[in-house]
Amino acid sequence: MMHLYMRQSQLFTKTKREDPKDEVSKNAKLLLRAGFVHKEMAGVYSYLPLGLKTLRKIEQIIREEMNAIGGQEITLTALQEKELWDKTNRWDDAVVDNWFKTKLKNDTELGLGFTHEEPMTRLMKEHVSSYRDLPKSLYQFQTKFRNETRAKSGIMRTREFIMKDLYSFCRDQAEHDAFYEKAKQAYVNIFNRVGLGDLTYLTFASGGVFSKYSHEFQTLTEAGEDIIYVSAEKKIAINKEVYNDEVLANLGVSKDELTERKAVEVGNIFTLGTRFSDALELTYADESDAQQSVFMGSYGIGPARVMGTIVEALSDEKGIIWPESVAPFRVHLLALGESEQVKKESEQLYSDLVLAGVEVIFDDRAGLSAGEKFADADLLGMPYRVVVSERSLEAGGAEMKKRADSGKGEIIALASVIDLIK
Ligand code: ATP
Ligand code: MG
Repeated sequence: MMHLYMRQSQLFTKTKREDPKDEVSKNAKLLLRAGFVHKEMAGVYSYLPLGLKTLRKIEQIIREEMNAIGGQEITLTALQEKELWDKTNRWDDAVVDNWFKTKLKNDTELGLGFTHEEPMTRLMKEHVSSYRDLPKSLYQFQTKFRNETRAKSGIMRTREFIMKDLYSFCRDQAEHDAFYEKAKQAYVNIFNRVGLGDLTYLTFASGGVFSKYSHEFQTLTEAGEDIIYVSAEKKIAINKEVYNDEVLANLGVSKDELTERKAVEVGNIFTLGTRFSDALELTYADESDAQQSVFMGSYGIGPARVMGTIVEALSDEKGIIWPESVAPFRVHLLALGESEQVKKESEQLYSDLVLAGVEVIFDDRAGLSAGEKFADADLLGMPYRVVVSERSLEAGGAEMKKRADSGKGEIIALASVIDLIK
């Protein structure tokens, strides 16, 4: 269970005024300055208390949406054996160039999984034999390792990252298509819930052998590495990699309805067909007892990439602006000045908020100026800032302001803070 409330005087992380010298991306600069993450090396980040809270909230939203479409949560291993991946021709570095590989003491080769179609398919061989066993979908939040060449996008593209990957197993294409539509809607829900709905487009991308297109979820941001062609009106986009006259005709859109934009792929859903079930012999007996290949799909999202994208898309010059659904805490309560009255009233408000079940971080640190506390609150980006100072008490209570609103806050009675926030 994550902390629902916290005293900033106890938090071990400190904020930094200066941007880190070795980062170019906005998300890395802000998240490092705010103490949400720690950089271990290029493209490798650890998550600290505040960052972990946000990451877990994003994961929980994804989990709820995956459960709602029937997904069953499991977790597979990072260590992978060569023989399995040889069968699908995905072991060779000439085919897959981002493997991290290692060896047992006896020289047996192993890899650190960059994705999990192979072990998922092999796992299902033990559990699927008849048409009655299908359809099924399995998912995990699991660490992937990818030897990415570029590592300039902060937590949006790292060499070790958690991915939510779901795999669906259906009897045939029709059953798959129905599940695929449900998954697509679940993804729309996820991006709405994490606060990226307005900026995120269902994007047509290359499909492979079993379907014309795959679908990416692309969020508009200058920090993105992809180019997409967007119809804001139809709320769809086309990835540059498949942007041509045939695709336009298929989708019934014309060039002049589309604008070229930079975007980041936050999620992706893909029809795999029988590529993996054929290679690994995952079959089931149909109603007439004939063996059929299981029809598969895969559905990925990187929670950290989503988190980095939120920072890129929603921050301002002062810091991060978390949507309420993923903010580490809902309220940042600030006590300003050292007066006994401020101390008493802010402590009381803190315990009232805690008792009311409002997630709150309390800046109870001594010896800091108001300016320093305000700057930290803006940097950390909780949705509501509530200030208790001598001035606010004289004016009638606490000063409350939403992080997303510019300008000054308003004074509200201490007794009505909780109602206004809840
Ligand atoms: P990209 O083209 O950006 O490299 P990808 O096609 O390799 O992405 P997938 O293999 O489909 O991505 O992975 C599923 C999801 O995992 C992506 O949509 C993204 O959200 C996330 N993801 C992929 N690579 C990374 C990474 N290096 N760091 C963090 N998240 C990642
Ligand atoms: Mg990639």
